[in-house]
Amino acid sequence: MKTTCANMDTIDDRLATIDPLHKFWYKKKVANIDMLRLDKLHPVVSGNKWFKLRLNLIYAVDHGYKTILTFGGGHSNHLIAAAFAARAYGLHAIAIVRGKYDVLTPTLEACIAEGMQLIFVTQDDYKNKENDNWIRLLTADFDRTLIIPEGGANERGRTGAGLINRYIKKNYSHILLSVGSGTTLIGLRNKLFTDQHVMGFAPMKGGVYLKDYIGEHLTPEQNKNWTLTDEWHMGGFGKCSGELIDFMNAFYDENKIPLDMVYTGKMMFGLQKMLEDNQFNSADNLLCIHTGGLQGNESIKDRLIYK
Ligand SMILES: *Cc1c(COP(=O)(O)O)cnc(C)c1O
Repeated sequence: MKTTCANMDTIDDRLATIDPLHKFWYKKKVANIDMLRLDKLHPVVSGNKWFKLRLNLIYAVDHGYKTILTFGGGHSNHLIAAAFAARAYGLHAIAIVRGKYDVLTPTLEACIAEGMQLIFVTQDDYKNKENDNWIRLLTADFDRTLIIPEGGANERGRTGAGLINRYIKKNYSHILLSVGSGTTLIGLRNKLFTDQHVMGFAPMKGGVYLKDYIGEHLTPEQNKNWTLTDEWHMGGFGKCSGELIDFMNAFYDENKIPLDMVYTGKMMFGLQKMLEDNQFNSADNLLCIHTGGLQGNESIKDRLIYK
């Protein structure tokens, strides 16, 4: 990719590996399961966030923007990734943060440490996050500012996420990933071979509402062979039970792969149940995408056997 930005190679894409899961973990229910370790790209700008941000940041630099502005909650992997990546690209970063905090979360502390400016708005005001007039008022005092929607959910975010396909060989029959805004699923579904099944796991209650939005952003030819389930939300977005922690520890014990509690941990929990329930064919070759987000384990770190 050509760019005028000197810090372009902030993250080396080759750090992501494809690791096989231990055969014991899937007990002949399928032919093979591999995991694409996007979590290894960077401790902060991990996983899919990097892919969703990169084209946005390159665009900002190439078009003379000095500042980016984006949105998120107090535990958002997107915010800390944006804070770090913006700084690496020499851009000032501003976040509109949902809700007021008496005590800053570790994520918000880390955002500030990366030089991000935080603007707190009430849950109600936050609902304006896609309202151009509201954003214009908020940013009136700043330099020319590139607005990046929550979760990097714009065309450049989707296109960037589609580039994750460079790691994904044709012989995988199923590609599994966790879904928040749907941006990564859309980007990948549009890029992967049509006959590869893309399975999205939404970790929030009622997350299947995203199906319409996803469908609208897929090309007609690619709007097939994908599914979205919210069956494995395990109490709702960001909620973490003892059962989930036990599962994540057991998974680490067997596969030496650390999972996060918000996204990939719940997906793998769901996959385990689906395997037990014989929902796959014994010839299937699965690739699970580890979308990163390990910084989100901070609140349960004392109960995990890994860092
Ligand atoms: C943000 C995030 C997701 C969701 O990605 P979308 O593109 O918003 O669907 C999945 N996994 C992790 C670890 C994330 O941080």
